[in-house]
Amino acid sequence: MLNNILQLLYPNLCINCNSSLVIGEKYLCLSCCLQLPETNNHLQKENGVEKSLWGRIPFDRAFSFLYFNQFGLTQKLLHELKYNGNHYLAEYLGETYARKIANTVQSHGIDSIVAIPLHKRKLEKRGYNQSQAFANGISETLGLTDLSSCIIRRKETDTQTKKTRDERWKNVDSIFSVLEPDQLKERHILLVDDVITTGATIESCAREMIKYGNCTISIASIAFAA
Ligand SMILES: [Zn+2]
Repeated sequence: MLNNILQLLYPNLCINCNSSLVIGEKYLCLSCCLQLPETNNHLQKENGVEKSLWGRIPFDRAFSFLYFNQFGLTQKLLHELKYNGNHYLAEYLGETYARKIANTVQSHGIDSIVAIPLHKRKLEKRGYNQSQAFANGISETLGLTDLSSCIIRRKETDTQTKKTRDERWKNVDSIFSVLEPDQLKERHILLVDDVITTGATIESCAREMIKYGNCTISIASIAFAA
């Protein structure tokens, strides 16, 4: 609470440690930036994110910017995105990550991006889609075509945490619809979500896109809960 008030009064403070930011620092001070639990798993084939999705959907590559650590720095950033509506931070994280994955994106021929959509009621309530803002940072930095408007979310889903794997799957089965399948055709699309935990949301969205759009999918997220 105090942290939120300080951020409103003094926006040039580090989100994590509240120290004053100097020129060149944005949202996080250098010392906190160095503490970010980066996975760097775009450099590693058969990484943990990829293994968690094997046998569920066909995809080329999958990678995440940060490890999700409860009560840690990633959690703090996600809280800032979700509850303080900081879409500038989401875009900034996207820009930062884009520079790291640029070679991987290019060498795999990824040419477009789709952010996992929110249901319109949730979008109204939250004010913005943090996955979309993160995707905007990536697509603007790397010059990818944003095809997010081709997909809609038809159903709001309940919280996933207290369900079994089977229940989770039923819960997310065909919650997405592809509105403009021709736009996706023969594209290599980076499908972007905020956090990958069970992978059920990614799986459901990718399935619809592949089925109706005949495209290749790679996957990226802000955080991965290993
Ligand atoms: Zn700091």
